[in-house]
Formats: sequence, C-alpha cells, structure tokens
Amino acid sequence: MTTENVQDELTIPEAEWNSSMFNLAQQQFLGASKLMGLDENIRNRLLFPQRAQIASFPCRKDKYSEVETVFGYRVQHVLTMGPTKGGIRYHEDVNLGEVSALAMWMTWKCALMHLPFGGAKGGVRINPAEFSRSELQRLTRRYTMEFVNMIGPDKDIPAPDMGTNAQVMAWIMDTYSQQVGYTAPEIVTGKPIVLGGCKGREEATGRGLVYLIQEAALHIGIDLKNATAVIQGFGNVGRNAATFLEQLGVKIIGISDVSCGLYSEKGLALSAIDDHLQKNGTLVGYKDASQISNNELLELECDILAPCALQNQITDQNAPYLKCKMLAEGANGPTSLEADKILWDRGVFVLPDILGNAGGVTVSYFEWVQNTQEFAWTLEVVNERLHHIMVEAFQRTLMRSQRDNVDMRTAALLEGIARVAEAKLLRGVFP
Ligand code: GLU
Repeated sequence: MTTENVQDELTIPEAEWNSSMFNLAQQQFLGASKLMGLDENIRNRLLFPQRAQIASFPCRKDKYSEVETVFGYRVQHVLTMGPTKGGIRYHEDVNLGEVSALAMWMTWKCALMHLPFGGAKGGVRINPAEFSRSELQRLTRRYTMEFVNMIGPDKDIPAPDMGTNAQVMAWIMDTYSQQVGYTAPEIVTGKPIVLGGCKGREEATGRGLVYLIQEAALHIGIDLKNATAVIQGFGNVGRNAATFLEQLGVKIIGISDVSCGLYSEKGLALSAIDDHLQKNGTLVGYKDASQISNNELLELECDILAPCALQNQITDQNAPYLKCKMLAEGANGPTSLEADKILWDRGVFVLPDILGNAGGVTVSYFEWVQNTQEFAWTLEVVNERLHHIMVEAFQRTLMRSQRDNVDMRTAALLEGIARVAEAKLLRGVFP
C-alpha cells in the first residue's frame, strides 16, 4: 500500500504557502496520518508550519550603482522536538510553498532518525550562478541579519542545501557571531572544518545514501560488485554517492547535471568527468560517453537509480518505464504520489528521501553536539556512528513496512509522524 490522495476528504484552506510541492508534502502526511488513525487535532497542527518569515531585501551588486531586490524565506514547521533544523537553499524557484514543504520533510526526517530537532528550511530566490562571490557574501550576510531573531543555536540551526555550501555557512556564522559579540560556531552546521565543522559532513548525505543502498541490496538480493547505477545530479549528493558506489564495485553507467545526461555501458570514469567539468563547467561535450536526455537517463536499465537533483522527477509519466530495481532518493521530494503507487505495483524498492538523504542532517547533528561540547570527533567515529544510525533507521522502517504492508515511504512517514505526535501529546496544549 502507498499513501493515497486524500485531499477530497479534508478541506485544506487555501493558504499563502500553497504550491505543488507543499501539496505533495501535505498529501503524503495526510495519507500516512489516515493509515495510523492520527488524532485530528494533532493532524491539523502538523499540516501547516508553526512559523514562517518572508523578507525582501537589497543586495548590492559589484557594479556599485546596481542594487537587486531579492526574496528570502525561513520556515519552522515543528517547534516541539527541540531546536528546528534545516538547510538554506539558493535557487531561482524558491518560494514559500517549496520552503514549507522542505521544512515539513525535515520534521519527519529528524524524527525518523531520532534526532532532537524539529524541521525548518530557508531559501533565497536567486540563481547563484549569476552572482559573484562577493555578491553572494553580501547577500548571505544580509539574509542572516533579516532572520537573526529567528535563528540561534538553541532555536533554529541552518545548514547547506542546494546552491549553498560550507563557505556560505562560514559567512552566516561570522555575521551571527558579530551580532552576539562572541564566536558562535554552533549557529550553523556544514561549516568549514577549521571553523568547527565536522569531519565527513560534506560527504555525509552521499555516504549515508550508500550505507542504505548496501542494506537494501542485501534485502532485495542485489550483488553490488556486479551491479549498475544511474545517478541524476552531479552536485554534492550525487557526486559523493557515485564515489562511494564506485568504491563498492558498482558500475556507474549514467549520470547527469542540469545541462545533459551521459551514458556508457562499460561504465563512466568519474575522475575524467571531474576534469571535464573543471575545464568546461558542464557535462556537455564529454567524449567518452553518449550524451542523452534527462528522460532517457531516468529510463536506463540499471539496478540502482538515484535521483540526487531536484523535486518532481519521477512522475506518472515516467514511472511505468523505469527499469531499475531500487530507487535511492538523495533529493528531497523527487517522486510524485502517483509515481509512488506505480512503483509499488511494479515492485521497485524505494529508499524514500526522508531516509535516503538523512545522512546529511545526522552528521549535522554530530557537528552541533561537538560544537556545544567543544570536543571534536575523528572521521572514524563520525562514520561509525552515522552507519549505526542509518542502518538502525533502515531496519526499523523496513520492519514497519513489512508489518503494515506499506511501501518504504509510508513506513518512514509513519515512524516520523508517530514520534512527533507522541511528543505533542506529552507536552500538551498551552495554556
Ligand atoms: N539540507 C539538508 C537536508 O535537506 C541538510 C540539513 C541539515 O543538515 O540541517 O537534509
């Protein structure tokens, strides 16, 4: 069973954050809450973000006379579990609905992994490729100031997401520290290591996904040494997942970036592709592979397909034609509700986003713990603890999916929602 569309059974008021992505997050939540018989009062509390702030603010461009007005967001979905946690995204499609959906998914993700956080997300609607480094620095510092009262080491802790990285976190950390008057590394995670970042954080999302792929391969009987993988997206998550899969002997036969896809039956040489990207900026023109479209990439015959790019990639249009045995979601929200049902009927094993990409926020949690204790762990300790948490969450989700006869996404949502609901009940209603 998968979560069904239950919109007609509950009238959700038209709201500021309405968008197709927020609708997907709400529908997933409503489907799971119906299956578990969630208390109606709690269901309605969790259906919307608890706090959201929008700001429009100026960014001075390198040409001094030019000032661009940009839009920034921060959404905190659930404040019950501890501080809120989630990345900041710089992308031209960012809007309140998208950020709210991502914040809701962060809530279930943190609860599923048993991390002491509620979900949050932030974003700025820009194309970061069109901003110089100094423009991005000014934009980031001003964004931080606009939301300075909302974030805090005990309140809400940002991290990198699409379009942001360790350098952006360093600027946020510096700006916040200037405001409070002392160095506060624990305000963000995903920082450069020299500023209190955690060893292994940068690769953690890709590494965590591959730990899960190993478990799932054992479960469905794929021998990784003879397996093939296709990876959509060659950013932080996709690139690292590719490396770790290659180390396990998996043949990477397809990859893509925004410009195009590449296919090679004999396997792609990742380091040669890195060199090509260094020189050319995009995958286009890479000689040792055939160039294919995004759709062709998704429909390649392979054992593991890992969407590690944008949302809404696997839909009812292409789900009937996927030829993978396992869908390993590194991206947030890559699969539509209709596609979930098709994949379930076709027996494709799904590692759902809130589990699949949870390695990132798990190591973010490690970073925050190390910062508050002022004690740094070794990479071995980080990876061993990450492995333990990922495998435990995988087994727990798998058991629930088998017990309740639901797909892995529904099982992961049930795990996360049940924990948040229990905490809400225990805390009660104020006043
Ligand atoms: N942006 C990442 C995610 O979607 C990481 C969030 C974090 O580390 O707080 O899970």
